[in-house]
Amino acid sequence: MLKALGTLSLALVRHFKTGGVIVNEHTLDREETRRHVEVLGRWFDFIQLNDLPERLDRPRKRPFCLLTFDDGKRSNATAVAPELEKLGVPAVFLVVSSSIDCKTPLWFDRQRALRKKLGTLPPRLDLNTLKQLPYALLVNRVERACSQYGVEADLDDDHVGLMTWEQVRGLHRRGFSIGAHGFTHAILTREPRLAALESIEKSITKVREVIGAPCSSFAFPNGNYTAELAQYAIRCGAKMVMTTEPTWADESTALWRLPRLQFGARDNAWKIELKIAIAASGLILKNTDGTGRAYRAINHMTGHSSRHAPMATKSREPILETSPSSRNLNECPND
Ligand SMILES: [Zn+2]
Repeated sequence: MLKALGTLSLALVRHFKTGGVIVNEHTLDREETRRHVEVLGRWFDFIQLNDLPERLDRPRKRPFCLLTFDDGKRSNATAVAPELEKLGVPAVFLVVSSSIDCKTPLWFDRQRALRKKLGTLPPRLDLNTLKQLPYALLVNRVERACSQYGVEADLDDDHVGLMTWEQVRGLHRRGFSIGAHGFTHAILTREPRLAALESIEKSITKVREVIGAPCSSFAFPNGNYTAELAQYAIRCGAKMVMTTEPTWADESTALWRLPRLQFGARDNAWKIELKIAIAASGLILKNTDGTGRAYRAINHMTGHSSRHAPMATKSREPILETSPSSRNLNECPND
């Protein structure tokens, strides 16, 4: 039933929607990569990052799909990219600048390792609790728990270990786009203002220096952003700034707050199709990590209709002041 619903809905969508979707992935193996591409390819033209502004401004009959991968895990280089190359599909890889070439796992992988070892976690180590904390406090808490319980994330796992800068440069040379995803994986709306601005600037600068080319995209860690932070990313050189608002993208979508649909590695064809159909309908999806509902709450507060791209603006220019619609997404548990 659900399987048919997704396919039927998407068949209808093609007749009345312009624009397309930006997909947010994290780690996939080769088979999962093939499956996601096969399903998306039935409905969408895959595009390069640089084609996005033109595809938003001048919609074509067939909608577009831009693939993005956050966090810079090693499997992006060893599994996803080789498979995408075989299939002739472009993508954007957004890396956590200080983690590349680093032997320290990202904090949420350490938290996952703790959860796996302990079964259940004390409330102070629960993901939602941790995501309310400033980065230094969060990392310290996870670090102490890892020491206390003798647990560490497995850096030999390609879904946990990070790429090297040489691998990142290799992806760039092979035609993939490289973007910034923060200097650390700090949730920037939890940080002091200056620290958040510095993380954005340092991450974009580092990517630009390493690949020897402009870093034209930035994605907020955990999806949390404000208009001021998004604007600052633009001033630091990013042409396109990505959130995790799970909606369709069209001519009303602003480049400084681009929505993205999240798929889980294990999502099968009908689930992917159903998620896209729901996004196309204007309803706000619940992401695999719960983000969607937070956006919906914000849109209700600010009077946007959920039938329209809620964070979108007719203007492609970032607004100068922090608007109510850009308040913190306090309840977004996302990677
Ligand atoms: Zn992330």
